[in-house]
Amino acid sequence: MRILVADDDATSRVLLKAMASKLGHDCLVASDGSAAWELLQSGDIDVLLTDWMMPGVDGTELCRRVRNEIKDNYTYIVLVTGLADPEQILEGMNSGADDYIVKPVNSLDVQTCLVAAERVTSLHRQVHQVRAQLEEVNLELLGRSLTDSLTNLGNRRRMEEDLLKVHARALRSQNSYCVTMFDIDYFKFYNDHYGHPAGDEALRQVAKCLNRVVRSGESVYRYGGEEFLLVMPNCHVDDAIAAAERVLHSVNLISIPHEARPTPPPIVTLSAGVACHSPDSDLTIHDLIEHADQALYSAKLSGRNRVRAGLPIIREVNAEPLIQH
Ligand code: GH3
Ligand code: MG
Ligand code: MG
Repeated sequence: MRILVADDDATSRVLLKAMASKLGHDCLVASDGSAAWELLQSGDIDVLLTDWMMPGVDGTELCRRVRNEIKDNYTYIVLVTGLADPEQILEGMNSGADDYIVKPVNSLDVQTCLVAAERVTSLHRQVHQVRAQLEEVNLELLGRSLTDSLTNLGNRRRMEEDLLKVHARALRSQNSYCVTMFDIDYFKFYNDHYGHPAGDEALRQVAKCLNRVVRSGESVYRYGGEEFLLVMPNCHVDDAIAAAERVLHSVNLISIPHEARPTPPPIVTLSAGVACHSPDSDLTIHDLIEHADQALYSAKLSGRNRVRAGLPIIREVNAEPLIQH
């Protein structure tokens, strides 16, 4: 263990250091409470053997500081005192000491104390480790609870949490932001024709495309079923439309065959609806998604494989399908 001896009396210091070192411990010394406190804050002291009476910061004050301020590791504290009065010893223990030795010290007393110290510090170390492992597991679980397992995109819950932040930030900074809802065209026919596992694979491919196109600061989520939502902070409607068209284009390019759809092209395509939240608007997040959904519906109605921008101004964008087969 790493032991710190704090004592203003040089003889006691040398004696305690010699005893602790003989027992195989690494031992530091401090000649007053302030110097001891400096060393304790370095965080790697397992045991403090401290004199009670010292000028400046005394033993009980050191105990209190350690207990109140050192949280990362446990410091086992032994008060070394010439005061054998039980009431004073109780006061020392109440200030945070774990044990005490009455001066003059003998090596057996020190050895006995250090047996208990070793046991307690090792238990604390184990608790610390288990806690760190639990925190890691919790983080991992949190990550999983916010991720869609099929596509590895953020799920609906993560989307809701992130959108709250994007919305609040946009209001604060008076910036606009956009959301785009994407939906795979004729996906039911795809599943019916190629089977559900192939449908899952197509969803993964489309999600990959979305991820590729998304830029830093933007996020894409699986909204549900074969629907995805792209969130673009600090973004105007024209940029959001351009981004949605890039997504549609990249899905067209990977050309996942879809022979079962009623209209060409015979590949998997997306339709998209863009909605923009401008700084002067009082739209809620829910309204905005609703607008993106309406724009998506309009893209579906006007032939699919295209982008439409929603309220406040319904704009006709890319009226022709991206690729004509
Ligand atoms: P539209 O072009 O109008 O969007 O037509 P659609 O057939 O894509 O839309 P509809 O809502 O009728 O069907 C959606 C299909 O998406 C039905 C459902 O089986 C499929 N789907 C939803 N989630 C999954 C999934 O996780 N895996 C697979 N394989 N299919 C899914
Ligand atoms: Mg669909
Ligand atoms: Mg759908």
